[in-house]
Amino acid sequence: MPTGGCHCGAIRYSVTGEPKHSSVCHCESCRRTTGGLMTAWVGYPREALTVEQGEPRTYNSSTGVERQFCGECGTSLFYFNEPAMPGVADILTATFDKPKDFPPQLHVQMADALPWEAGLDTLPKYRRFPGQD
Ligand SMILES: [Zn+2]
Ligand SMILES: [Zn+2]
Repeated sequence: MPTGGCHCGAIRYSVTGEPKHSSVCHCESCRRTTGGLMTAWVGYPREALTVEQGEPRTYNSSTGVERQFCGECGTSLFYFNEPAMPGVADILTATFDKPKDFPPQLHVQMADALPWEAGLDTLPKYRRFPGQD
């Protein structure tokens, strides 16, 4: 059973069954609410998600949209958009204990992607930092 949680450990969750989708979102709303350049999401039926420990806080980023996060450490965790995706709980892929088990299948909201995102893969890469490795 896949499990996950926030950075400080106050919030822990589990899911059952199979995910409905696994995608990378480039929208501005995800960017600003997570502080991440892009965000990977795994979607499950809402009833498949159980918060095992703690109580996430909720932020309404737009009408009918709930983004939930840990009030202690600020980790973004869940996204619920009943108008657009009824009955779906989107979970930030990187908060799973084993995020490698959820490879994304597609990019969404490319209209909001920053112009230089496309060139990221061409930049110099270091295992840690320049000069160390
Ligand atoms: Zn936390
Ligand atoms: Zn988004």
